[in-house]
Amino acid sequence: MAYLSLREINKIYPNGFHAVHDFNLDIEQGEFICLVGPSGCGKSTTLRMIAGLENISKGDFLIDGVRANEMGPREREIAMVFQSYALYPHMSVYDNLAFGLSLQGVDEDIIDEKVNNIARILGLTDYLDRKPRALSGGQRQRVAVGRAIIRKVGIFLMDEPLSNLDAKQRVTMRSEITDIHRKVGSTTIYVTHDQTEAMTMADRIVVMKEGYIQQVGTPYELYFNPVNMFVAGFIGEPPMNFIRTNVHDGKITVLGKDIELSHIISDENVSAHEGKPVALGFRPEGIVLGEQENFYVFEATVDLTELLGDNTNVYVSDGDTNLILKVDPHDTPKMDTKIVFSVPYANAYLFDGESEMVIEKK
Ligand code: ATP
Repeated sequence: MAYLSLREINKIYPNGFHAVHDFNLDIEQGEFICLVGPSGCGKSTTLRMIAGLENISKGDFLIDGVRANEMGPREREIAMVFQSYALYPHMSVYDNLAFGLSLQGVDEDIIDEKVNNIARILGLTDYLDRKPRALSGGQRQRVAVGRAIIRKVGIFLMDEPLSNLDAKQRVTMRSEITDIHRKVGSTTIYVTHDQTEAMTMADRIVVMKEGYIQQVGTPYELYFNPVNMFVAGFIGEPPMNFIRTNVHDGKITVLGKDIELSHIISDENVSAHEGKPVALGFRPEGIVLGEQENFYVFEATVDLTELLGDNTNVYVSDGDTNLILKVDPHDTPKMDTKIVFSVPYANAYLFDGESEMVIEKK
């Protein structure tokens, strides 16, 4: 039996806005789940229903098999870290960490042991006497995380906890949070709009759009087997290239060239989509420069190149279609020249142009 079960969960706000639709998810004990999606897709609403800060309009929420819809936040044994991780400014790091336990009347010796232990895990031992204003953003964030995990809780909820940090601190905190999760082992649900955060931290990712779950899967599954164009475009940076066109005689025309669809989808699926709109998708990094046998081969003009150090983003077009290719920086092509590139059949995806669902690969 799953540790947390969300069954047909819906949220309809008092003004009638339906923010979350039929959300179904089983979460195992100790799992790290990321909820991702663009602003307004219902991530925070879902998290707040799990926390007990927002009532569930319809559906069942179970903790360890017990219906928890009506349980208060305290009863749920949950700790939360929010985007604005307000620390008590007049208290030292030690007192910020100890505060929750003091309120509960925990013995001073036990508090001292726990604070020192958490400080060690989080690398805060040298800062215990400092006030929050004398800490860096990343250190403050660690105090906020420490304050949440110092009480032994079963469920740890985080809502965009890294959004106040600069890019470098975010990368560091990402690995620190996964490390803490490994040490503490609490079931964690983490909300972010940043797909890189989700990809690097989660055991499983839930991709949401306009209140609906689009797909649930491991980072690997979402990257290699996206169910629709939304997920394919959301996971991966720069996003997957899409070329919308119609099927004619089992082929599509891409960058002025006719390509056979039977290389990537079954003959039945090719026939089923004859004359219909489809979208070809491939990732910027899913190409090789030059012509390769048994690959789709295209030619396009280089509009712009961006050298990023470990790779170069090459923006190409043929006047109609604009694409991004990721290439080795040593292979950066010159602007305004024509380049040939090849897409392995395994790296090409075909989507139904109307439903935007992936067409099953061969
Ligand atoms: P963000 O990344 O911007 O925080 P989110 O995915 O977390 O977005 P939510 O905060 O869950 O999104 O909001 C989902 C939708 O519900 C939004 O359209 C929002 O405007 C709406 N919403 C949120 N709170 C309320 C409320 N109290 N009453 C009515 N609508 C609300």
